[in-house]
Amino acid sequence: MKRIETRLWKNGAKRAASFTFDDGRYEDYRLVELFNKYSLKGTFHLNNPGFLTSCGYKEAPIVDPKDYRELYEGHEVSCHLYHHPFCKWTPSAALLEEVCSNKRSLEERVGYPVRGMSYPYGNENDRIISVMRAAGMEYSRTAVNTYDFFLPEDFMRWDPTCHWSEAEGLLEKFFSPMNYDFMRLIYVWGHSYEFTSEEKWDQMESLCRAVSGRDDVWYATSIEIVDYVNAVNGLRFSTDCSMVYNPAVIPVWLEADREVFVAEPGKVTKL
Ligand SMILES: [Zn+2]
Repeated sequence: MKRIETRLWKNGAKRAASFTFDDGRYEDYRLVELFNKYSLKGTFHLNNPGFLTSCGYKEAPIVDPKDYRELYEGHEVSCHLYHHPFCKWTPSAALLEEVCSNKRSLEERVGYPVRGMSYPYGNENDRIISVMRAAGMEYSRTAVNTYDFFLPEDFMRWDPTCHWSEAEGLLEKFFSPMNYDFMRLIYVWGHSYEFTSEEKWDQMESLCRAVSGRDDVWYATSIEIVDYVNAVNGLRFSTDCSMVYNPAVIPVWLEADREVFVAEPGKVTKL
C-alpha cells in the first residue's frame, strides 16, 4: 500500500499565510493597498453600514459601502454581524437576524455568497455557533491567539495565530524547517484603525514584506483556506491507495510515497 500524506497546500506549498481584519474602518483603504503591493490576501469582516453612526460613534469613519466591491476585489468580504453585538448577551432569534441581515447586506454589495465571519469581541459559545451555522456560516474567527501554525479542529472556532503586532516575531519559527511538516498556517488578525501612526504602518509594511514573495507559501483568504481543507478531507482513496478521486471543484496536492501528485477536480488520479 502506498504511503499517502495530505499535508500540502495549493501548488504544493508547505505553508499558507492569511490576514483577517475586523470592523471595516476607513484605514482599510490603505491596508488593502498594502496587501495588494505585496500580493497578500486578506479577509475583511464588516458590520452593516450605518451601525456605527446609529450607535453614536459619529467620529468613526468607515469604508464607503459603494466601494466594497472595488476595494476588496481579490480579497474576501465576510460577516461581523449587523450591530457588532455581544453575542453571549443576545437572544438567539436576534442573533439570527444579526447574521442574516449582515450577510444579505454584504452580498448585495459584493456580488457573491458571504460564507464566514468573525465574532465581535471574540464572543462565542455553543449556542452562538449553532445559530451561525444555521445561517450558513462555514467558519468564524475568534480573538484567542494560539501562537502556533496548526489548523483548527472546527472552523467555527478558528483561533488565529496572533495579532499583527506580534506576527513578525513568529516568522522565523514559521519559516523554519521541521521534522514533521504539516499544513502550516500563519493566521494574523487585527483592526486597521490600530494603525494610528506612521510607525505602526511601517511595522505592518515590514511584516508584509517579510511574509510575502515566497514560493513555499500560499497566500489565501479565510474562505479559500476552508475550501481547500474541505477538498483535502473530501478526497476518496482506493483501498490500496493507488488511486484517488477528488469530488471537489479545485485541485488538491498530496504525496504518495513522498512523490507529489495533483488530484484534479472531478477526476480519478493514479498515484
Ligand atoms: Zn469588531
